[in-house]
Amino acid sequence: MLQDQTILRIPGPSPIPPSVQRAMNHTMIGHRGKETSQMLKNIAPGLKRVFGTEQEVAIIAGSGTAGLETAVVNVVKPGDEVLVVVTGAFGDRFTKICEAYNIKTHVLNVEWGKALDPEEIKAYVAGHPEVKAVFSTYCETSTGVLNPIDLLAKAIREVSEALVVVDGVSCVGGVETKMDEWGIDIMVTGSQKAFMLPAGLTFVAASERAWKVIEENEQPRFYLNLKKYRDNLLKDTTPFTPALSLLFGLKQVLTLIEAEGLDNVYSRHDLLKRMTRAAFKAIDIPLLTTDEDASPTVTAVQPEDFDAEEFRKILKQEFAISIAGGQQHLTGKIFRIGHMGYCSPADVLQIISAVEIVLKKIGKDIELGKATAAAQLIYLNEGENK
Ligand SMILES: *Cc1c(COP(=O)(O)O)cnc(C)c1O
Repeated sequence: MLQDQTILRIPGPSPIPPSVQRAMNHTMIGHRGKETSQMLKNIAPGLKRVFGTEQEVAIIAGSGTAGLETAVVNVVKPGDEVLVVVTGAFGDRFTKICEAYNIKTHVLNVEWGKALDPEEIKAYVAGHPEVKAVFSTYCETSTGVLNPIDLLAKAIREVSEALVVVDGVSCVGGVETKMDEWGIDIMVTGSQKAFMLPAGLTFVAASERAWKVIEENEQPRFYLNLKKYRDNLLKDTTPFTPALSLLFGLKQVLTLIEAEGLDNVYSRHDLLKRMTRAAFKAIDIPLLTTDEDASPTVTAVQPEDFDAEEFRKILKQEFAISIAGGQQHLTGKIFRIGHMGYCSPADVLQIISAVEIVLKKIGKDIELGKATAAAQLIYLNEGENK
């Protein structure tokens, strides 16, 4: 078998573009020098555009969960009450973080595979005026659902002053995000998903409303004190040594996004989603989510008559293609294909044609080429629409 090939199609970490990889090889520089300041200055506007905000976007060295914890410790304190909307494993992570800090946590569970209902949450917060913040997930990576956070923020605003905190780790950078316009108070994302970088950075932005709360919050915090990051960013520096290699990469990522055009990045992801979904539908393999709820960055497939784990294993063995399994109670029941960041229609066609071979190998009766043709057709029709 060909060595040194990994076709990474899990929903993060995601593949790194060659120019980003090269950028990260930059000679190490001093973090308090002019070059670093200039780099931070160059990065800021692009990052703000991706978030759809005029506010500063803090860059913190840590994985996505550090960003989630940053959100929690900066906006609430022990004894406060919050609502966490759980649509899957990552919503659940917010619950665990809040509970770890002795925050009184209300949990609204949504069936895994379905999107949250803004009206249901509106009714909940209307009935619980003590709730100071509502935590939710934009793309729920464990199920492949994209939650309507724009409608959620609007619905909450109508009845409550609660801050709207969103985990956008697996989609910001691949899916339209208009933090300011939509009224999102805290948006968190990470580097290893749609941002096409290795793990190690988390990005956190806060609204003006959120800043008022953050500034008055007495919750003890040090490394994750968002105020430190903002105050330093305003002087083109960071409170602690930044992950410089990742910043070199980030600068290049933003250059790539700018060159493609944000709207084109979003429509590419949407096309990847539709190609992937059409392929599985064509061979009658059920998808976990409806078309309406589906995320452009990850697709969850729920096989009924073959073993998802066996299928994944062979895909890896034969083609060096890595896809993800299910999490928590969906373990063994679904598999998930990541199509975020550095992923093109050509990549989806590659995956789908390999998927067809593996399905044959595990004894599923499908007509070879049918799934690929369905994805090809979506692509061709797209071309005609342009
Ligand atoms: C990947 C991911 C995270 C962060 O996970 P880390 O392993 O801490 O980087 C958080 N939320 C969502 C929705 C994710 O997909």
